[in-house]
Amino acid sequence: MFCNIIAGKIPSKKVYEDDKTYAFEDINPKAPTHVLIIPKKHIVGLKEAEAADTELLGYCQIVAAKIARERGIEDGYRTVYNVGPGAGQSVFHLHLHLLGGRKLAWPPG
Ligand code: AMP
Repeated sequence: MFCNIIAGKIPSKKVYEDDKTYAFEDINPKAPTHVLIIPKKHIVGLKEAEAADTELLGYCQIVAAKIARERGIEDGYRTVYNVGPGAGQSVFHLHLHLLGGRKLAWPPG
């Protein structure tokens, strides 16, 4: 489904795009900033990622940090992968959640 967002077949509110990643507003935001950063390469989830994806996964984190800086939420934000249905993963195209703009409790539920 997120491949269709990258392709523009499903509309999304784009936040950032480059040759390796696409970032967009989460449709059901859990914080004032809730952006999803996805690799354009289809990876099902973190547990399906391979050693060859190492740089791409790190790059997604750098994109998240750049967006957080631009949004002025550097007082406190969180990047999250939900891995597997037990952790709430509902879309099986790897996506990094960037959450911020409010106080974030620890540990998450
Ligand atoms: P997860 O539960 O970790 O798999 O996260 C999936 C996220 O994708 C959820 O936070 C959803 O709100 C979000 N989502 C699902 N469909 C869309 C969509 N079409 N556009 C934007 N966000 C979406």
